[in-house]
Amino acid sequence: MTITTRFAPSPTGYLHVGGARTALFSWLYARKHGGKFILRIEDTDLERSTQSSIDAILEGMAWLGLDYDEGPFFQTHHFNRYKEIIQQLLAQGDAYYCYCSKEELELLRTEQMANKEKPRYNGKCRSSGKLEQDTEPVIRFKNPVDGVVVIHDLVKGDITVANKELDDLIIARADGTPTYNLTVVVDDMDMEVTHVIRGDDHVNNTPRQINILNALNSKLPKYAHLPMILGPDGARLSKRHGAVSVMQFRDEGYLPEALLNYLVRLGWSHGDQEIFSMDEMVEFFELNDVNVSASTFNMEKLLWLNHQYIMNGDTAHIARHLSWHMGQLGIDPTEGPHLVDVVKLLRERSKTLVEMATASLYFYKEFDGYEEKAVKKNFTMGSDQVLARLHDELLAVIEWNAEKVHQVIVNLAEALGLNMGKVAQPLRLAICGSGVSPAIDLTLALLGREKTLSRIDNAINYIRNLN
Ligand code: GLU
Repeated sequence: MTITTRFAPSPTGYLHVGGARTALFSWLYARKHGGKFILRIEDTDLERSTQSSIDAILEGMAWLGLDYDEGPFFQTHHFNRYKEIIQQLLAQGDAYYCYCSKEELELLRTEQMANKEKPRYNGKCRSSGKLEQDTEPVIRFKNPVDGVVVIHDLVKGDITVANKELDDLIIARADGTPTYNLTVVVDDMDMEVTHVIRGDDHVNNTPRQINILNALNSKLPKYAHLPMILGPDGARLSKRHGAVSVMQFRDEGYLPEALLNYLVRLGWSHGDQEIFSMDEMVEFFELNDVNVSASTFNMEKLLWLNHQYIMNGDTAHIARHLSWHMGQLGIDPTEGPHLVDVVKLLRERSKTLVEMATASLYFYKEFDGYEEKAVKKNFTMGSDQVLARLHDELLAVIEWNAEKVHQVIVNLAEALGLNMGKVAQPLRLAICGSGVSPAIDLTLALLGREKTLSRIDNAINYIRNLN
């Protein structure tokens, strides 16, 4: 039997990190068992589904690198199949037409609430058959009235639900469109899904889905319901806690592997290991190591992980992601040093790729002005002369590299009887427009002789106009 899992998002918004974690766990499980991972877009809610949301899901999956073996399938392409199954259920007596009006159902509900009963359909049309009437009926599934349904949940353990707790759910609306529980069941059955891994907000649907599968004589998949992800205040993670969409994490400068590593640890653990390569995740992942209780999203920890990946990852890989951010800032990375060298220079001090991209702008374009505070501190009387001397000395350097540049700065400081800072700080401001940069010799080496000398010239003119 091929292990088959699926990720089945409804395209009604962005790809939420909670959804991404569900996708990751389903992907990991399939990859670990040499199985198949399917992407299925559940777009039957025609009013709420949008193309932009479908695009966001596909883009998110691609950015995360969660490749699927089949799909994307679209449920809207399966309407005929759902109709066929609904007809089958009607024909075998496991479904029936229901003509109860909205008003009638509302009244029933009010009465049940008043009697402190759980609101549920009372089965009035269960035995009346199809009637010749003006109103279009809905179709309900005939849920068994006796007995229990046991979910052998791979995360939560056995969950037992009495059938008398479940009412006859609608499987086709009056306009003929099928409802969620029906479409999921049909697709899971047709796609031979062996493991349904999804958020535990669906746990209430599972006994109903099992009953429909049983009515269809279908094999049951195994279920694993993942606990919710909460914000720091204990409420379900949402937009008001900050970034929750996968693409927003990209925009904010996270590497996909850092986000995946963070997500895998959110509700799953393997000893106290924090950092996992994708291969390690596949190797160690087990559904029975998933926590039963909800987990809290911790931005600080994600940021820490991102920094780890930026510091230790493959430089060419990081450069490729950085390149996208440079593009976002309107920079053509070919108009300056190789991005791989920028990564090497800035990785220790950049927690995100946005920080790295912003901190490397001066390599690619002239900055707009000098940072005011740094000007007061470093462009002081006489600093123009220090810079003029530096200009001459640097002009004479034959082989332009960090070591040679370093020597020039040290020698000049010594010759002028100044400490290093008095030389390096005005130089730094001249080159970067601010008082912070990585080691100045490395910065100059990467910037190149031409840009270095012209920026020193600019700074000298600027200082002379100041005083
Ligand atoms: N389409 C459902 C959702 O986005 C998921 C259905 C499932 O995984 O069974 O919540």
